[in-house]
Amino acid sequence: MDRPVTQTAIVTGGSRGIGRAIVDQLVEDGHSVVTCGRGDRPQDLSDDVLWVTADVSLNSDATKLVEAAQAAFGPVSLLVNNAGVQVEKTVADSTDDDWDLVMNVNCRGLFNMCRAVLTPMAKTGGNIINIGSISGMVADPSMALYNASKSWVHGLTRSIAVDHGPKVRCNAIRPGWIMTEMAEDGFALANDPERAMADALARHPVGRFGEPQDIANMVSWLVSDKAAYVSGECFTIDGGMTAAS
Ligand code: NDP
Repeated sequence: MDRPVTQTAIVTGGSRGIGRAIVDQLVEDGHSVVTCGRGDRPQDLSDDVLWVTADVSLNSDATKLVEAAQAAFGPVSLLVNNAGVQVEKTVADSTDDDWDLVMNVNCRGLFNMCRAVLTPMAKTGGNIINIGSISGMVADPSMALYNASKSWVHGLTRSIAVDHGPKVRCNAIRPGWIMTEMAEDGFALANDPERAMADALARHPVGRFGEPQDIANMVSWLVSDKAAYVSGECFTIDGGMTAAS
């Protein structure tokens, strides 16, 4: 049987969506959880969770977040890099601001957070889980910068696993279509959103879109001792969609 081990966990982007489901699951699993977003503490966040207003693209905010977690619960042993943004454009249509937004949050933010935890974690041991995307593996049309940023997330995941093992395990999850604000915003941009949703659904062998809890379940397993031999891997959780492509 698994030995329950309480982790000091940081989940970035826990104000809603996938991040919130991960926060709630880790609390249910008995861990001490700190989360962040750019705004004020969400009213519906569990009282058990420490909220820090922080923009992960700013190095000073990443440091502030890690220091707050450490002061409240002790050394950070689990980091889930979930915060992310998307811009739906081709390279030709993308502006410098689009580049800055996507790269500063999806890449720079993840780098800031990993760097802030890795030196102490490399001594005491820990676990990093990065939320990538199937878009980093199979290019979604008109999502050029987002696709590239998520490929980078998968690459960095493998490097961290190689450079910081055996103390640190590092893995990534590549979600498919998970029903959150981000996915809904994406469908809303289609010429015919209802048709786009029906077409996307038809590509799912499991017959449904994903829910945030589907990703939280995978995080819960990756954190557990059952995944002790798992590192440097990127797990596709997409209801079989890419298998059917
Ligand atoms: P949402 O847009 O619903 O939530 C994004 C979260 O990230 C929010 O909590 C937001 O908080 C936070 N965030 C954004 N920018 C920053 C920042 N600079 N600093 C701190 N927090 C930030 O997205 P999802 O829940 O759908 O996506 C979560 C992750 O999963 C992302 O990395 C996304 O790329 C990935 N993903 C999602 C898929 C889907 O279908 N939904 C598919 C594949 C991957 P706030 O706005 O309050 O700052």
